[in-house]
Amino acid sequence: MLVILSAAFARADWMDHFMVREDVGIHKNPYLGDTKVVIIPVEVAGFPPLDTAALESFFGPDDPGGFVKYYETASIGRFRPRVTVVPKVTYASCPLPAMQFPMCSVARGDINAFTAGMEMMRDVVKKADAAGFDFSQHDINGRRGTADGWVDGVMLITNVPFGGIAFPFAYFNRGDNLAGGTSGPLIVDGVKIGHIAIAGENDMLVMVHEFGHTLGLTDLYDESQKYDGLYLSWMGAWLYDPNIPLPDAETRFRLRWANWNQVQGRQRVAIRPAETSGDVYRLGIGDEYYLIENRGPGTLVDKSLPERGLAIFHVDRTVKLDGMEGRFVDRILDCVNCDPWHPYIRLLQADNLFEIEQNKKFAAGDLFQPGDFLRPDTRAIALSETNRVNSTNFYSGAVSGIRVEDIRQLEDGTIEATLDAPAEGQCDERLCTEGEGCAPTTCGENTTASGCSTAGLTPLGALALLLLEQRFRRREQRFLRRA
Ligand SMILES: [Zn+2]
Repeated sequence: MLVILSAAFARADWMDHFMVREDVGIHKNPYLGDTKVVIIPVEVAGFPPLDTAALESFFGPDDPGGFVKYYETASIGRFRPRVTVVPKVTYASCPLPAMQFPMCSVARGDINAFTAGMEMMRDVVKKADAAGFDFSQHDINGRRGTADGWVDGVMLITNVPFGGIAFPFAYFNRGDNLAGGTSGPLIVDGVKIGHIAIAGENDMLVMVHEFGHTLGLTDLYDESQKYDGLYLSWMGAWLYDPNIPLPDAETRFRLRWANWNQVQGRQRVAIRPAETSGDVYRLGIGDEYYLIENRGPGTLVDKSLPERGLAIFHVDRTVKLDGMEGRFVDRILDCVNCDPWHPYIRLLQADNLFEIEQNKKFAAGDLFQPGDFLRPDTRAIALSETNRVNSTNFYSGAVSGIRVEDIRQLEDGTIEATLDAPAEGQCDERLCTEGEGCAPTTCGENTTASGCSTAGLTPLGALALLLLEQRFRRREQRFLRRA
């Protein structure tokens, strides 16, 4: 058993987007169930003081725009953090080495420089512990949903200029572990702290994003700045939204926060708004597949989305993910979504303009709405910078046979569509052996003709219907603009 476990841990990386999911504790915070999160405010003299009341409110259970409601909404109630804000730890001067951190500010993504900040993290935890805070009360959750010897989550919030970072402390630590030993996780009050998120106090999205890393998620924006990276995800680009966006469908699927519907054969489906239902439709299996969800302006999340529609993602898990210990450093240098034409997760755009890939912004017209569709490219050519054709082909060019057609939006926000996936062999994949989100809630169905399928229509009839639909869509958009 021990041999099996250590083999699993050797293939268990920090921020691996669930290439491995047995490493809760050592590399990931628990991401399901009731969890306790410790926030340690760190205030350095000479910078604007922390607004402790605002922090208490943002991390409290009732703030509709806050941390707890965000995670409860994004997980459809499956992940329920409760946060304790520790009495603040204060410093008379910057606790970081002045040589590397002039003005006490930390550049984003500079992990080498940040190892110098480990002394500060160790000292902050030591000070909070010495002031009487009992970390052992904050381990109630783990891989099996019960206390596991690891604190459920620790984040520092500081008043110095700070973009935010999440740091695998135990992996890099060669010094004092605060329990009489050296290296590995910090141990306080008998419980371990293996990784720590840090954020400045003024950017709520960053606080939520950095904590996302501690759940096992990698960055989905493009650190190389060729383009913005993945839109519609709080681990990706968020420039369009001062509010906090939902996780993308792939991330929710992997976190087991989705209501996973696996498509098999031709199905007419009703896809409910993601923010209230968790609905994700998956077309294809293995490492490369398509995911569909219904995104639109919600009351708690996605408030700035310009319209409602289907978000369609092309996922390729072979892009820079492998789960090997320590490889997260590679992903910081060369991120999984850095290639706009072949990232780990790509958001398709209904308007066929490929603007996001060309470093423009996500905008109205990108979500799939009535009149839009997605089909195979029978020439069997892959998408690339020189072949800008929207299709459901794989990155090899191979035709997947996947189709998204006959989209209709209902008044309650539900979107109907006709989906095509391979006719058999789609129902057996599992993310895990037991628990919510491990298996599809539906796979295939008795095909019903509740929608208005174009199958069987003459080409002229189909064209007439398409034109009619497009006219209807324009009218609807005018109405929405007035509303
Ligand atoms: Zn990040």
